[in-house]
Amino acid sequence: MNSIPERIKLANLPTRIQKLERLSEKLGGPNIFIKRDDETGAEISGNKIRKLEFTVKKALDEGCDFLITCGGIQSNHARATAAVTAKLGMKSCLVLRGNGKENIDGNLFLNKVLGAKIKFITPEAYKEKRMEIMENIKEELAKEGHKAYIIPEGASDGIGTFGYYKAMEEIIEQEREMGINFDAIVVSVGSGGTYGGVFLGKKILNHKSKIYGVNVCNDAEHFKRRIEELLYESLNIMNETLDFTKDEINILDGYVGRGYALSKPEEIDFIRELAQLEGIILDPVYTGKAMYGLANEIKKGTFKEHQNILFIHTGGLFGVFPKIDLF
Ligand SMILES: *Cc1c(COP(=O)(O)O)cnc(C)c1O
Repeated sequence: MNSIPERIKLANLPTRIQKLERLSEKLGGPNIFIKRDDETGAEISGNKIRKLEFTVKKALDEGCDFLITCGGIQSNHARATAAVTAKLGMKSCLVLRGNGKENIDGNLFLNKVLGAKIKFITPEAYKEKRMEIMENIKEELAKEGHKAYIIPEGASDGIGTFGYYKAMEEIIEQEREMGINFDAIVVSVGSGGTYGGVFLGKKILNHKSKIYGVNVCNDAEHFKRRIEELLYESLNIMNETLDFTKDEINILDGYVGRGYALSKPEEIDFIRELAQLEGIILDPVYTGKAMYGLANEIKKGTFKEHQNILFIHTGGLFGVFPKIDLF
């Protein structure tokens, strides 16, 4: 039982849980709390770092000195990976979806400062053969005497998912300290590992909450399938079995808006409003859409059976800077 792999310590944990007093009052529904996983660090920040604690441990155990990963042009995961490698004296190569003509700002700028090698590939190449491209880079590096480890998009695989299994343990401990029970937990969903880990923790640790994900790309059916796969991968590593069905995976579809990393004026207005109401800045790609979705669903009555909602702020602050014009 609970035989999960070891991790290295990279994140500042536990992250705080705060009540959003004014937002809760304004929406007139359940109490809304926020878990500040945007504060897991500065350069090495956000949700990806919890997953990387497990992933990088595995890479180090295998004797790797290079991490290869992929993501969108402003990927928070790529930036966190670049920062982790610099911190550990390793090197990174980031395969990013773009043409190299984009403005050098936000996460892309930080990647350069952190010394990551960057390879830009077209959206088609990204979709069809990013794994093959990363394998080729790994082979090239091997010729130069490096041993590289390939981390999939968002570090969302059976290993990375344990980051949020551990976060669920942390939440249960904080509930005890705070004398409160969260009956709903809400996260944004981009590659599914965060949701998968929280769900795995909930099921194995018998937590009573209902876990909701707000997808920021694709659709609910895609993520139910993807998260189910991730769960089986993690369970396999744990040597555990678990009774669950795909239908227990609750995805609140309808907040992708104009598409991945594209913003609607309502979303930007919401981010500005929350910043001024609570002093917390959400990001335009993930948490802005997810919290906008949560507020909307509260108004629609979706959360009326719940008393205390915990929203996980998964980070992404650097993503506001490439969108200054929209604000
Ligand atoms: C990657 C990311 C997410 C989505 O997490 P997944 O585990 O990929 O679903 C949410 N918020 C931020 C800020 C992210 O960078």
